[in-house]
Amino acid sequence: MPTCLITGVTGQDGAYLSHFLLEKGYRVVGMMRRSASSDLVGERLRWLGILQEVELVNGNLIDLSSLIRLLQTYQPDEVYNLGAQSFVAASWDQPLLTGQVTGIGAGNMLEAIRIARPQARFYQASSSEMFGRIQQPRQTEQTPFYPRSPYAVAKLYAHWMTVNHRESFGMHASSGILFNHESPLRGIEFVTRKITDGVARIKLGLTRELPLGNLEAMRDWGHARDYVRAMWLMLQQETPDDYVVATGRSTSIREFCRLAFSHVGLNFEDHVVSHLDLIRPAEVDVLLGDATKAGRKLGWRPTVTLEDMVAEMVEADLARHRARLKL
Ligand code: GDP
Repeated sequence: MPTCLITGVTGQDGAYLSHFLLEKGYRVVGMMRRSASSDLVGERLRWLGILQEVELVNGNLIDLSSLIRLLQTYQPDEVYNLGAQSFVAASWDQPLLTGQVTGIGAGNMLEAIRIARPQARFYQASSSEMFGRIQQPRQTEQTPFYPRSPYAVAKLYAHWMTVNHRESFGMHASSGILFNHESPLRGIEFVTRKITDGVARIKLGLTRELPLGNLEAMRDWGHARDYVRAMWLMLQQETPDDYVVATGRSTSIREFCRLAFSHVGLNFEDHVVSHLDLIRPAEVDVLLGDATKAGRKLGWRPTVTLEDMVAEMVEADLARHRARLKL
């Protein structure tokens, strides 16, 4: 039975990846930060019905010795580094913490593997945010980066450290440049989940308004369930590499709102209000990925349409609020 170590196991991708790897017969060891409210952190794993099957262990990306100890204890065959301060907007308030966790944290894991478990295969969760102010209309593995937030700068450090460890030490280290991917398990602070949660609350009469920032930004949104499969495929290749993972379709926040509100028969223009304090200091206006390489080399293709994903997210948020109201 192969063993994997997943950082960020309590997040959206950690939950879906755990589910995927458990089905493949892996022993899944999930690293989480110790915290006083840890009774809540397993929520996503519980939602997928796998909380009891994932071995949750304490560790921290900014504590190199904790990473080395985990690698020595569990001897994973594959390490998926999904842990990060992952919310772009928060990265302006805590730029250095973001650098420590999202950037140096990945470097720590690479160093820990190099020291304690050099045969392990490594996946780095890189991000389309690294393209930032885009240099080409469709972004591929060859497109130059132009990060637009402390988060993206930190992710770029992690990306290049992954490439560098691969080239310098022959490590099986791959970087997945994943475009935005969403699901009912997306954090509530991200715009898609904020919208679908808002739609559910408005539909159920709990509120009337949904405050949002820039509605003109465009994102290439896929489903997290599809995207974790790409992570695994990268580590099954003989040679490590970098891959863009995207749907090839870009949609505005405004259009996402229209889709989500119309799913429950509402008009978004009656409810969405513009809040200036939700506008970011620097914006990534548009992202559109070209996953041709992932299709050709990994055989990966997205299976969920944006429309189906929006419907799934709205329905999940309606169900959550209905269940809560009955209590
Ligand atoms: P990101 O692409 O990783 O930053 O994912 P987000 O879901 O946080 O943001 C996607 C886009 O939605 C960005 O261009 C934001 O400026 C825009 N946006 C507009 N209103 C909001 C809002 O209320 N919350 C968030 N998170 N993003 C918003």
